[in-house]
Amino acid sequence: MKVRLLVRYGELSTKGRNKKAFTQQLAKNIKKAIRQYPEVKVHPEYDFMYLDLNGAPEEEIMKLLKPIFGIQSFSPVYIVEKDMEQVKAVVLDLLKDLNPTEKNFKITTKRSDHSFEYDTTDINLFLGDAVLDAFPGITVKLKQPDINVRVDVRREHIMVSLQTIQGAGGLPVGTSGRVNMMLSGGIDSPVATYLALKRGMEVQLVHFASPPYTSPDALTKTKRLAAKLAVYGGSMQFFTVPFTEIQEQIKKSVPENYLMTVMRRMMMRLTDELRKQQGGLAIATGESVGQVASQTLESMIAINDVTNTPVIRPVATMDKLDIIAVAKEIDTFDISIEPFEDCCTVFAPPSPKTRPKLEKAREYEARLDVEGLIEHCLAGITVEEITASSNFDQVKDDDMEDLF
Ligand code: ATP
Ligand code: MG
Repeated sequence: MKVRLLVRYGELSTKGRNKKAFTQQLAKNIKKAIRQYPEVKVHPEYDFMYLDLNGAPEEEIMKLLKPIFGIQSFSPVYIVEKDMEQVKAVVLDLLKDLNPTEKNFKITTKRSDHSFEYDTTDINLFLGDAVLDAFPGITVKLKQPDINVRVDVRREHIMVSLQTIQGAGGLPVGTSGRVNMMLSGGIDSPVATYLALKRGMEVQLVHFASPPYTSPDALTKTKRLAAKLAVYGGSMQFFTVPFTEIQEQIKKSVPENYLMTVMRRMMMRLTDELRKQQGGLAIATGESVGQVASQTLESMIAINDVTNTPVIRPVATMDKLDIIAVAKEIDTFDISIEPFEDCCTVFAPPSPKTRPKLEKAREYEARLDVEGLIEHCLAGITVEEITASSNFDQVKDDDMEDLF
């Protein structure tokens, strides 16, 4: 018996003219996610897509489909010859795996081959009786049954399907253009990254590191977060920006209560320069209105002043508890709360200005050689590709001793 996975698009179906590009991107993303199973063939059609498994493990493939954005739902579909005894055997076999006793079911038959010798009522009755005979305790329920056995009589074969699994929703990554996401090691920016990916954006990650004030562990922590996000984003470019020199200069020249604002302005400028080089269309951050001193609206005005590029803030209006709930769901929370110091924490003044004045921020920043610092910093940026299977486990001191 042949097994197919039927993939439904959801929101995609309403996208009209763009639909072809969307389905092609989705097919590409699916192929990438299942690349270790080259035997699986992906067939994009207008309203759905099917995957011929050709012997690949069904459960594994379904696990890989689960986090792919742009998939509304999917179902394993079994292709059976046009012989009712064979259909019956398949239905009973599949039901057995679902622990059907005490559950209720219905049979839903669709027939596009009207020359087939049985009509839909014949088939519903025949299979319904077979199920009732085979599983004592099972009952028929026509409205919202526990198990809906779908039978589709086609010209070339009959398709049987019992399960519909909810997909990740959203839009296929890569259909909404590229953004440069400022990723710290905190709780918010990984969640913001996930949400940007869900709306179809291709995300490049930008992380500011200030060695030796920030440790290699802080950088590794952020890369481990990136690997978690790569489950949704496919592989992602991770840019490490050497921020030490700029932070030291700011610390030297800017009054303490404007350190944070000027530092953020420099981060924004650098991200914007990198975005230009990379062909990105927007910048994204994990800022949330009112959460901390640097995230008041006045503060956003003072920081955002350095660019006209759209700044996407996916978690701007979310409550912290709701952000945490998403962080747990996408498995970034436990890493985010590890205690390594971020560059902002190290340089953070005890009392940053909660309502910085734009004019003052500009004035203090002008004390720096902004262009020179930016240019020097850009030259030191490094990049690496991070995938879901990237491994950044620390080499422990004990392990090192074992090596000698
Ligand atoms: P997060 O939980 O994302 O760290 P936060 O609540 O700690 O956010 P801030 O420290 O004010 O907030 O940072 C606001 C945003 O600035 C972050 O969400 C992130 O987008 C960006 N940012 C902060 N520090 C860094 C960093 N070291 N590298 C890259 N981006 C950063
Ligand atoms: Mg932070």
